[in-house]
Amino acid sequence: AAKEQGKNRFLTFETQMHEQLLNRLDEEARLRDAVRRGELRLHLQPVVGVPAGQMAGAEALVRWQDPERGLRMPGSFIPLAEETGVIVDIDRWVLFEACRAVKRWQDDDPATAPAWVSVNLSAAHLEVPDLTDQVAYALSSTGLSAQCLVLELTETVMMRDLAVTSVRLEELRELGVKIAIDDFGTGYSSLGYLRDIPVDVLKIDRSFIDGMAGNGRQQELVNAVIQLGHTLGLRVVAEGIEDASQLSLLTVMGCKFAQGYHLGRPEPAEALISRLSTPSLRA
Ligand code: C2E
Ligand code: MG
Ligand code: MG
Ligand code: MG
Repeated sequence: AAKEQGKNRFLTFETQMHEQLLNRLDEEARLRDAVRRGELRLHLQPVVGVPAGQMAGAEALVRWQDPERGLRMPGSFIPLAEETGVIVDIDRWVLFEACRAVKRWQDDDPATAPAWVSVNLSAAHLEVPDLTDQVAYALSSTGLSAQCLVLELTETVMMRDLAVTSVRLEELRELGVKIAIDDFGTGYSSLGYLRDIPVDVLKIDRSFIDGMAGNGRQQELVNAVIQLGHTLGLRVVAEGIEDASQLSLLTVMGCKFAQGYHLGRPEPAEALISRLSTPSLRA
């Protein structure tokens, strides 16, 4: 009987593995088709000027309107997209749609439109040989000015191969686009690379903002990063502002830009545009 049970257990295990593999292949195929089927959605989150509170820029964040599972956040599909290379198609779609939406907004209502839009790029993208061409194409076909586009990369991605990264980023900057270090402070990397890698914007990760109130050491750390960024001539953005006390601390520290639920959540691009555009222009 023990032998029988053991055999059953093995069969069950094998069946489960098989099912998991099929699920993964199915999910991969559906993700691959998502771009072509128009299931991706562009959301925008405001980046706000401090202390005035006006929207200065916006960050493009992708969502997947999955017909089987509803609206999905990037955390649930970006890892698979990265493993399978589908991320390159997703990022290209987001890049184009973000440029198009913001250019249209700037044309229709320059008074409320953001001065820049930032787009996240995955590690795989730095290795795509025609990345610079893709960015140039997105700009020329939408008409968005290069100065209005920021490309966000995490420090871990930048550190993978410093030589390749520097060459890539220089090419992109020659187009006139700006480069941001995303999630700054989470990559366990040395500060030395700030000297070697050409960047324009530093985004302080929200883990440094979270818990800042009531923690003097953490406040000193955030303050030091802001001053360092400014000394290097960088635009500094604090991420993940969830309440008024965090915003007032950052204001005192001289931080000029902030992003977070307290200042505006990510929402569908059309919703944000129609909410903020001057009423007379609304349909
Ligand atoms: P990220 O680039 O650091 O984007 C900021 C994330 O923090 C977003 O999550 C945003 O919704 C969230 N967030 C903003 N304010 C707050 C706040 O006050 N509190 C908290 N707790 N969270 C806040 P989201 O949209 O789920 O995106 C997660 C990550 O997925 C992004 O982190 C980015 O790394 C990646 N991602 C998003 N869109 C794209 C894309 O189009 N391409 C690529 N390659 N990655 C993307
Ligand atoms: Mg980002
Ligand atoms: Mg970030
Ligand atoms: Mg992130």
